[in-house]
Amino acid sequence: MRKPFMAGNWKMNLLTGESRKLAQQLKADLSSLNDIEVAVFPTLASVAVVLDVLRGTAIAVGVQNCHWEISGAFTGELSAEMIRDMGCTKVLIGHSERRQTFGETDETVAKKLRAALRAGLEPIVCLGETLAERESGRTMEVVSGQLKGALKDLSSADMKNVTLAYEPVWAIGTGKNATSQQAQEVHGTLRSLLKEMLGADVSQQTRIQYGGSVKGSNVKELMGMPDIDGALVGGASLIAESFCAIVHYQK
Ligand code: PEP
Repeated sequence: MRKPFMAGNWKMNLLTGESRKLAQQLKADLSSLNDIEVAVFPTLASVAVVLDVLRGTAIAVGVQNCHWEISGAFTGELSAEMIRDMGCTKVLIGHSERRQTFGETDETVAKKLRAALRAGLEPIVCLGETLAERESGRTMEVVSGQLKGALKDLSSADMKNVTLAYEPVWAIGTGKNATSQQAQEVHGTLRSLLKEMLGADVSQQTRIQYGGSVKGSNVKELMGMPDIDGALVGGASLIAESFCAIVHYQK
């Protein structure tokens, strides 16, 4: 059984005071989490504040990106080891905004994934097709290529701490989510590919989140699909009430 996993990507939003308030609201509402995993990804500026508020709770804190080197002349970057040292346990890798705006490639995603595992972090690796790729019938080819690129040379043991997030680019921040059938089709393909690449156990154990305009009103249907194991949430994770409604989708 795969434990459902809900994650909130705060992107470049919220000043430290606002982040503290949101973390306090999440702490109040999500104090007992037995059957579901929850993580939040604040901006770097707010990580310390959020870690402080959420210390001792079941809500994990992560960073939205990392560099693949341990240290060195990489101005403005942060290594996976530094993220671990701050007290974070999670990291997002290959978010489409990083792929599209900051030149992230399958190769850098693979290097960052290895760095995250080396540092003992639990990465969420994001993949997804653009609207043009979907409309030209290339969705499966694109996401399969991204998965193979990211996991190249990874062992079954490495996969224990890896979560995947299928996030169609056309559904991120647009209010237009993939239908549960569209998402399931891709999740099913990714799971079959995991089986081919790393065997049946890895395929059955790896969680695949869906991301792209997830809200309280669509999460239940998405979570009803056999291969959808959680959600990576952007906009709706900035408001405690909407994120908590997503986490409590079973109620
Ligand atoms: C995201 O940032 O990963 C995301 C899915 O954003 P949104 O929920 O706003 O579409």
